[in-house]
Amino acid sequence: MKVRRICVLGSTGSIGKNTLDVIARNPERFEVVALTASQNTELLARQCARFNARLAVVADASRVPALRQQLQEAGSRAEVLAGKEGLVTVAGLPEVDTVMAAIVGAAGLAPTFRAAETGKRILLANKESLVMAGQVFVAEAKRNGALVLPVDSEHNAIFQSLPPEFSDGLDAIGVEKVILTASGGPFLDTPAEALPAVTPEQACAHPNWDMGRKISVDSATLMNKGLEVIEARWLFNARPDQIEVLVHPQSIVHSMVAYRDGSVIAQLGTPDMRTPIANVLAWPDRIEAGVRHLDLAQINDLSFYQPDFVRFPCLSLAFSAMRQGGGAPAVLNAANEVAVELFLERRIGFDRIAGVVEETLTHASSAQPGSLEEVMEQDRLARSRAYEYAAKIS
Ligand code: NAD
Ligand code: MG
Repeated sequence: MKVRRICVLGSTGSIGKNTLDVIARNPERFEVVALTASQNTELLARQCARFNARLAVVADASRVPALRQQLQEAGSRAEVLAGKEGLVTVAGLPEVDTVMAAIVGAAGLAPTFRAAETGKRILLANKESLVMAGQVFVAEAKRNGALVLPVDSEHNAIFQSLPPEFSDGLDAIGVEKVILTASGGPFLDTPAEALPAVTPEQACAHPNWDMGRKISVDSATLMNKGLEVIEARWLFNARPDQIEVLVHPQSIVHSMVAYRDGSVIAQLGTPDMRTPIANVLAWPDRIEAGVRHLDLAQINDLSFYQPDFVRFPCLSLAFSAMRQGGGAPAVLNAANEVAVELFLERRIGFDRIAGVVEETLTHASSAQPGSLEEVMEQDRLARSRAYEYAAKIS
């Protein structure tokens, strides 16, 4: 058994904490080299001490003195790095072989890209990286022999339902389509007239999953599913017409693959991110994740239906951005991040998130970005357009 030397980007977040929980259950398999956080240095310091990490990175450089002090108090001798440079450095360290990419949003792209440039085993939670930089990212990973394993529960379910070799596209392995399931979020049954008045607290109260605030709002608008559709395109080399979404409120069937011969293969499980995290941490082995099996006799209702594209326009916007290609997915992602932030700050209503994204998308370039820098430039431009438009409507 190979001991994996791991860097957890975003170790203080929901995915980061679950990752360390699974590592703690399997200490003989992992050596934690580096941990990173945006602001929460107190938790970062405790994690560094507990897992004996060699490096601690805080993205907010003004927090370095606090981090040094807290590391000392916690009894950790981790070396401190800061800022975006610090994140990129630890993701590319030669002594790291595995990178858990669990920073939220566009901030995760540069360090995850470095992991691709340096040929790491990338455990990908940061779906925004693939949405923004799809083609460039996949090409970079391939060039350097980086292996990308999906953490997102739907993509992990599809990964588990595919044969081991699928890089030549879905047709080559007899797959007709992949079907992503969506819980439908907290507003699945909320009438359209009530959506403008919903609050950030209501949007963040997801019925099945306990997640960070940004992805919780994305789940409420169904933009999360839209981002996942684009993520699936790049992860599985799927054509846009090979990806479908089905609402499944119980979140038991995590996604499915429909084959040419009529077979549908699915992965089922309790909704707990430690299952997909354990799957990618140990792949192809199976390890203890602290998750109980499903008791199917107790579950007497598994329902599936078509998503409502009218009440949840973000999902259609994502499908069109995927079909449009070029710079559209990066613009979709940037505008959405801006709109979600403004909604969380109560500066725009919930129903305006889709409007900000739609308006910003009308400015998307049709040119396919050819490098990380070009992707970042599209991201920057789209953010300023989204802020401008939001200022007009708020
Ligand atoms: P979270 O908000 O709980 O945690 C985010 C982590 O990123 C934290 O460690 C935070 O310190 C760090 N971070 C935030 N902004 C940063 C910045 N500017 N620079 C550096 N670090 C920064 O988010 P989460 O729910 O853990 O989600 C993380 C990623 O995983 C997202 O891309 C999300 O879409 C994806 N994901 C999450 C879940 C889930 O169940 N939580 C499921 C599937 C996919
Ligand atoms: Mg998901």
